Amino acid sequence: MIRGRELATFRKRLLTWFRHFQRDLPWRRTRDPYRIWLSEIMLQQTRVPAVIPYYERFLERFPSIQALAAAPQEEVLRMWSGLGYYSRARNLQKAAQQIVEEHGGEFPSKMQGALALPGIGNYTAAATLSIAFGKKHAVLDGNVARVLARLGAVRGDLRESLRWKELQQSADAYLDPRSPGDWNQAMMELGATFCTPKSPQCLLCPVGQVCEGRKLGIAETLPEARKKRETVQIRLAAAVFADENGRTLLLPPRDDQDKVSPADDVPRLASNLWHFPTIPVNGNPTTKLRSYLRSYFEYEHEGNLRLVAAGRIRHSVTYRAVTVEPFRIDVKKLPRLDGSRRVPLHEITDLPVSNLTRKVAQAALVAASVSNRKHDE
Ligand code: SF4
Repeated sequence: MIRGRELATFRKRLLTWFRHFQRDLPWRRTRDPYRIWLSEIMLQQTRVPAVIPYYERFLERFPSIQALAAAPQEEVLRMWSGLGYYSRARNLQKAAQQIVEEHGGEFPSKMQGALALPGIGNYTAAATLSIAFGKKHAVLDGNVARVLARLGAVRGDLRESLRWKELQQSADAYLDPRSPGDWNQAMMELGATFCTPKSPQCLLCPVGQVCEGRKLGIAETLPEARKKRETVQIRLAAAVFADENGRTLLLPPRDDQDKVSPADDVPRLASNLWHFPTIPVNGNPTTKLRSYLRSYFEYEHEGNLRLVAAGRIRHSVTYRAVTVEPFRIDVKKLPRLDGSRRVPLHEITDLPVSNLTRKVAQAALVAASVSNRKHDE
C-alpha cells in the first residue's frame, strides 16, 4: 500500500502525466453526466475506437436524457445495432425514463440515486459522479484492478470477494480528493496505455518509482491467471425463409415473445433482437429444423419444405463457442405468426438485429446467388 509522502508523489505524478498526455476522447470534452454515463455504458466490453462512432451517432439522434426516454425502443436498439450486449441499450433507456419520472430529467448526483437506476453498478456510478459532479468515489473495474494489483504486488485471483474488497480500499485511499474525476480517469488511462494486460511499459511509466510490482520484477506476471471456465459448444440451426418477393420472416426480441417460442433454450445471443427462427440442435439439423417449423408455424400448405444448407457460421461469446447452420427455405408465401415481421432479406440491417443475424442473412443471400448461378448454367 502506498502511503505518506510516497502517496503524495504518486498522485502528483499520475495527475500531471494525465493532464499532459491524456488521449483526446469525445466524452472527455464534457461534464454533462448524460454524455459521461453513456460513454461508460458503451465502453463496457467494447474498445474505445469501436465506441467513438456509435457514441457520436447516438448523441446526434438522442441529444438528451429526455430525447432518449421518449424514443421508441426499437429506434434505440437500431442505433446500438452492432455494438452487442443489447441489454445495455435497454437498461440505458429504462434508466433515462426513470430519471425523467423521478428526477425531473436530471441525472441524480448522489450514489444512492445513481445505483437505483437500471444497468448502473458501482463502477458506472462512481465514474459518472466523480467526473460529472466531482464526487469522491473511486472506480474499480478489471482495468483499474490490474493497475492496483501491480502497484501493490497483489497476488491471487483479484475477483475473489475479499481481495476485491481490499482493492477497493486501496482505490479509495489513493483517490485524490481534490480531483476525483481526473484521478479516476488517470487510473483508467494508465491501465489502457502503459499498464496494459500484456507487456506493461514499466520503463516509461510515470508512476514506476512507487510501483511494488515493478520493483520486484513481477509486474508482467500480475494479475495471476484466473481459472478458466470450460468452453461450452453450442450448435444452432436457423431458418431463413425467402418468398417470391425476396422477403424473409423475423421473430421479435425474446422479451416480447416469451409466451410463443418453444425454443426457450436458444441462447439469448441469438434472440434478444429481431432474429430468424432458430433452434438448438444435435444430430441432423435438417430433420430437427423441419419438424420444429412444422409444429411452430403449423406449416402444412407447401408439402415438404426444401431446406438448402447455407454454410456454417462460428461465433464466440465469453465461454460459449456457437456454430450456426443457416438454412434457406424458398417459399411462395411466408408462414403467418403473430408478432413476426416480414422484411426484404437484403434490408434486415435497417432493423435492430445482432451481428450474428446479419451473418446468417448474408449466408442465405450468398446461398441464393450460388444456386441461381447453377440454375443459369
Ligand atoms: Fe504498471 Fe509498470 Fe507502471 Fe507498475 S510500473 S504501474 S506495472 S506500467
